[in-house]
Amino acid sequence: MNRRIAIFPGSFDPITKGHENILLRALPLFDEVIISIGKNSNKQSYFTLEQREKWIKQVFANEPKVRVETYTGLTIDFCKKKNADYILRGLRTSADFEFEKAIAQNNKVMAPEIETIFILPVSELSAINSTIVRDIIRNGGNAAPFVPEGIDLKS
Ligand code: ADP
Repeated sequence: MNRRIAIFPGSFDPITKGHENILLRALPLFDEVIISIGKNSNKQSYFTLEQREKWIKQVFANEPKVRVETYTGLTIDFCKKKNADYILRGLRTSADFEFEKAIAQNNKVMAPEIETIFILPVSELSAINSTIVRDIIRNGGNAAPFVPEGIDLKS
């Protein structure tokens, strides 16, 4: 049987407890999950690619099935390059649903062999998102409750 490889694409600017939870719950379903940081030229990130990658590697240092990579271009093309048949996404809100539905259905037309798998956040983490974490940091607040254990956003 083919190894079940999933891509978990996103900006991870920065990684939050929400991302961590989705990844850990999805992990038993797959042989390998590649956390894939999209390099989007239209979207200016707050943290550098190197910082974001470093923190993700730190969070999953003890998970041999997790890898971290960066990519440009279409997610389905990156999936093909990595032999990944699955795209993993989280669904926090109805706005996420409408947005993700369009992308997943269009991806399905372009690459019928790739399935998008959605995981709902646990209720206590569903309000966390990277935008709010960045706002807290910009305004000198303490974002530690929202990011994985051990992540020092000042480092
Ligand atoms: P993108 O810019 O592609 O949405 P993000 O880094 O914001 O990148 O999110 C990557 C994925 O993680 C998305 O599928 C998003 O829905 C999911 N996600 C982010 N925060 C949470 C959370 N608190 N609970 C569940 N899923 C989440």
